[in-house]
Amino acid sequence: MNIKEKVKELLDEIPSNVLLVAAVKGRTVAEIEEAIGAGIRVVGENYLQETQEVFPKIGQKVEWHFIGQIQQRKVKKIVEMFNIIEAVDSLQTASEINKYCAILGKKMPILIEVNSGREPQKSGVMPEDVEQIIEQISALPNIKVEGLMTMGPIFDNPEEIRPHFKLTKEIFEKVRKMHLENVEMKYLSMGMSDSYKIAIEEGANIVRIGTLIFGPRVK
Ligand SMILES: *Cc1c(COP(=O)(O)O)cnc(C)c1O
Repeated sequence: MNIKEKVKELLDEIPSNVLLVAAVKGRTVAEIEEAIGAGIRVVGENYLQETQEVFPKIGQKVEWHFIGQIQQRKVKKIVEMFNIIEAVDSLQTASEINKYCAILGKKMPILIEVNSGREPQKSGVMPEDVEQIIEQISALPNIKVEGLMTMGPIFDNPEEIRPHFKLTKEIFEKVRKMHLENVEMKYLSMGMSDSYKIAIEEGANIVRIGTLIFGPRVK
């Protein structure tokens, strides 16, 4: 199946309240354009440098989500180019985002990344710390927390990821009930090519899919 057919199939299958983000790391402009032609409205990028290559050719006809790990020295550029930053996992990064948004007169929607598998080597806020960090970030006027994102551990059997999605959804609901200023829990971003169906069953309304649309990554 080609990119176009795959996107159409996914858009048909995924409920209309769930946003399909095409994870485009390592893909060419032609591949990304093909996905957009088939109905993709949001692309997710992991790397700033790659975005700087493809963004000028694709532009604002789609929304751009930054889904990668954020290096402090790249925050200024990320803030300028992206519509949502999906994987904020420290107060320090949030403060840096806030600083540049204040200069630009912009209010940046962000999602907080949860380390739902409590894996020491991985990014994301530990589940027990999410409420506290969102409370702290809610004091930053140029940021709006719009939800949570999680990757979850990698399993051979995708079904094993379900408890981690469940946990993230529980935290999502808890934070929603805190009714904090600058916080509106709209988006729960979880699920990739091998796990998006489970994620949607567990309440995700953003799924980030690369391989299933574009094929295996070559680089
Ligand atoms: C690459 C990536 C995806 C998509 O993964 P696939 O398995 O290719 O669908 C989703 N989210 C993030 C953060 C990624 O880096």
